[in-house]
Amino acid sequence: MKALYPIIFLAVFAPIALADGLPELGDYSATVMSALDEQRIADEIMKDVYASSQVVEDPEINDYIDDLGHRLAVAGPDKYQRFNFFVVKDNSINAFAMPGGVIGVHTGLLLAAKNESEVAGVLGHEIGHVVQRHLARMLAKQKNDSVISMATMALALLAARSNPQLTSGALVASGASAIQKQIDYTREHEREADRVGLQIMTDAGFDTRAMPAFFETLQKGTRFSEGSAPAFLRTHPLTVERIADVRNRVEQQASFRAAQESPDFYFIKAKLLADIGTADSAINTFRINLQEKRYASESAEHYGMALAMLRKNDLAGAREEVAWLRKNAIANALIETLATRVAVAGQPFEAAGQLYLQALGEYPEHRALIYDYANHLLGSRQLDKLLQLIADKLDRFPDDPYFYELRARAYSMQGKSLLMHQAQGEAYARRYNLRGAVEQMDLAARATDGDFYEKSIVEARLSQLRQRLDDKRTR
Ligand SMILES: [Zn+2]
Repeated sequence: MKALYPIIFLAVFAPIALADGLPELGDYSATVMSALDEQRIADEIMKDVYASSQVVEDPEINDYIDDLGHRLAVAGPDKYQRFNFFVVKDNSINAFAMPGGVIGVHTGLLLAAKNESEVAGVLGHEIGHVVQRHLARMLAKQKNDSVISMATMALALLAARSNPQLTSGALVASGASAIQKQIDYTREHEREADRVGLQIMTDAGFDTRAMPAFFETLQKGTRFSEGSAPAFLRTHPLTVERIADVRNRVEQQASFRAAQESPDFYFIKAKLLADIGTADSAINTFRINLQEKRYASESAEHYGMALAMLRKNDLAGAREEVAWLRKNAIANALIETLATRVAVAGQPFEAAGQLYLQALGEYPEHRALIYDYANHLLGSRQLDKLLQLIADKLDRFPDDPYFYELRARAYSMQGKSLLMHQAQGEAYARRYNLRGAVEQMDLAARATDGDFYEKSIVEARLSQLRQRLDDKRTR
């Protein structure tokens, strides 16, 4: 694990160094919860996020949003703020920010955006809410002493906001309804988040014109279908005034550089589309888009078509699309991963292993490819190779719980009890499940098959995890 605590203490002071000219909303120290409390709330929320079936688990979609989010966050005013970006399986158009830098994006928002800068505008706005501590200030005012109940409340509010049809009973039960009104962002909050977001977009090299453009798209959508406003508008009240304000700011900017957009955006969008409805309807959508030349990236349409065909188990069709991509598209890790997936189908395991190694030679840090190869090694019981692969990749992905889960499965198949429980404990710790982590590490400490060196590592880690769990309980 990365050493989080020193970073958190720095973060207590960091938010004061705001971007130039931003208004101070009241007395900072009196109204804001401590950064440590914020971090604890964020950890609680992330625990639920990991446990939730509503969160997209696809490593390519997650890595995409995480990369985009961090490209923006490093351009923001608070360099010490930690962020977690993830995607929620929900086709309503929304994004939200929680205390501690937890930012969720709905699949619907990615699908509705025309280009990466439009997504960047929304993410910049959400990052603005985080670094200006808007929600943290509102929660701090509730004088609630329990961090866990605050996290629960934040989540209940979140659920209520994205599902207006949710019965108010659930809200009452969670104690959240009483504060729901106060939790809605105010106009000042929105203006401030827009200003910070625009600055972040500019500094990160995106096309700032995309922010007012996307806001307008959202507003137009509202006008056409009365009563079904995009969820984003309900949580971030969007007035004509606010859009005009953003547009004015953008127009005052001296010049526009070419936006630093990643072509991956169109591939990720195609990947999401390939998963909507039935495989046949998805295939049909891509076919029509290609026929009528309705696309921003022809390659991404073929990529989506190949994915939809794989979903339908039409291997021959998928091979055709991959052949098209190999011939016409600029190579990228997403295409290579898909092409490898198609190529290994039906191959004997030695040949499949070679194909994975070849692809990994080109894209050694593409997580989806590493996962695929790891699962291939697990499935063909090449456990020593699997353990070596994980050991090689962990330096690059020290916080990835899945690598530890794979390691636990390999040790379990080898009948190594201490190492299995240790790996499972590390996986739980990375899913913010401290109780599970302590339980597993305790089992590892009591296992009889470890040597002295392994035992002492486990014992040290067990007491460290217990300490963290106690810290949380006494709050
Ligand atoms: Zn907002």
